[in-house]
Amino acid sequence: MADRARWLHALAELTDRLSAAAEKGSASCPHCGENRLEYRYVVDPESRIGYVLLWCGACLHGISVSRVKAPEGVPVRSMYAPYPTQGVPPFTRPD
Ligand SMILES: [Zn+2]
Repeated sequence: MADRARWLHALAELTDRLSAAAEKGSASCPHCGENRLEYRYVVDPESRIGYVLLWCGACLHGISVSRVKAPEGVPVRSMYAPYPTQGVPPFTRPD
């Protein structure tokens, strides 16, 4: 659980900065410390509600969070698109 909380904190940091300053990749990975976090919001385009995948491109650890709303200004994929998670690598979730 502590691991998951750290990931959620990193996600908030990442998306807050993104919507504020359009700056990307400024939160560090809770697992390995690299600044290689990536995310993918898969949402309903109208409500911007769906789920998000957050992972580290360096160590391939991450989390998925359901029932989230994508912050304004953050890029999203439609959940109705054919392959909304295309390009997301397989990653390890914390227990
Ligand atoms: Zn990492």
